[in-house]
Amino acid sequence: MSSGTVLVTGGAGYIGSHCCKLLAAEGFEPVTYDNLFRGHRELVKWGPFVEGDIRDRDLLEKTIRRYRPAAVMHFAALSYVGESVENPGLYHSVNVGGSEVLLRAMTACKVKQVVFSSTCATYGMPESMPIDEQHPQQPVNPYGVTKLAVEQAIGKWSAETNGSSVMLRYFNAAGADPELETGEWHEPETHLIPLALAAADGQGPGLTIFGDDYPTPDGTCIRDYIHVTDLVQAHLLAMRTDAPAGESQAYNLGNGEGFSVRQVVDAVEQVTGKAVPVSNGARREGDPASLVGSSARARRDLGWQPRFDDLGSIIATAWGWYQQQGASSQ
Ligand code: UDP
Repeated sequence: MSSGTVLVTGGAGYIGSHCCKLLAAEGFEPVTYDNLFRGHRELVKWGPFVEGDIRDRDLLEKTIRRYRPAAVMHFAALSYVGESVENPGLYHSVNVGGSEVLLRAMTACKVKQVVFSSTCATYGMPESMPIDEQHPQQPVNPYGVTKLAVEQAIGKWSAETNGSSVMLRYFNAAGADPELETGEWHEPETHLIPLALAAADGQGPGLTIFGDDYPTPDGTCIRDYIHVTDLVQAHLLAMRTDAPAGESQAYNLGNGEGFSVRQVVDAVEQVTGKAVPVSNGARREGDPASLVGSSARARRDLGWQPRFDDLGSIIATAWGWYQQQGASSQ
């Protein structure tokens, strides 16, 4: 597929909005479908917008019949691990129920291709590292459980309808559009890099490091940070690759290099030139000590090549976005 309309569910969110920008730059028309529960209308800049819930079958079908997308990029979901533990029913309803409604609407309207925003949280506690796509999927929190359930529903949909599907399992999405037209905007914000940037900027009481007694070199958790622009590039490649009808493929997306929380804090201090006030807190429930992915498969099969493969440039774009947001809210 090289042109046409693409339905982007969750297109007003962090990763979805970056995807819309890329699709438009590549000659596609991204149609954002988002209920604005966590997304932001201001981030819908590259195509039509339909405000709607992913569980609203009628509106989804109406939207598909109106815009006739050749493919769907499916980002719409709730994505906070902690919230999923507190309210698993809501996560099941939105993430699994919503995706099932979407698949039914796609079938009814004969849309045959979907690229799904999945996560390394579907693997659970790592048994071997780096994690590749063959690693057992045993999620340890409701968020991961719902994302795995959607992968399975999409796999079944592909087989039953002869549709093609790709699951992209992200490691830690970070950074912002280098042109600062969109960026990370979560309310509430729970992610390490934006919180460390806010702490460097003197906002709030400082950063709490969740656990410094992990079996890692400096005792803090290690994660694999991947730039959001590189993530959405993989979506485009996955869509263009036209996965075989009736099959579903899965690819990990990470840089294959792990950084500890302390290393991230050091890099934030370097990029911003400011000290990050930190305190050591308790471990956060459900956090594995280390999560690093192998994306060899995406590189080989999709020709994916991350451009922002160093932590400093990932943080520099996030800092640019943070400063711009601060400037625009003054
Ligand atoms: N983290 C931390 N303090 C915070 C937020 C996060 O120490 O205020 C740690 C967290 O325990 C994890 C890493 O930073 O080891 C990345 O967390 P984030 O929430 O950004 O992403 P996740 O790994 O949960 O997807």
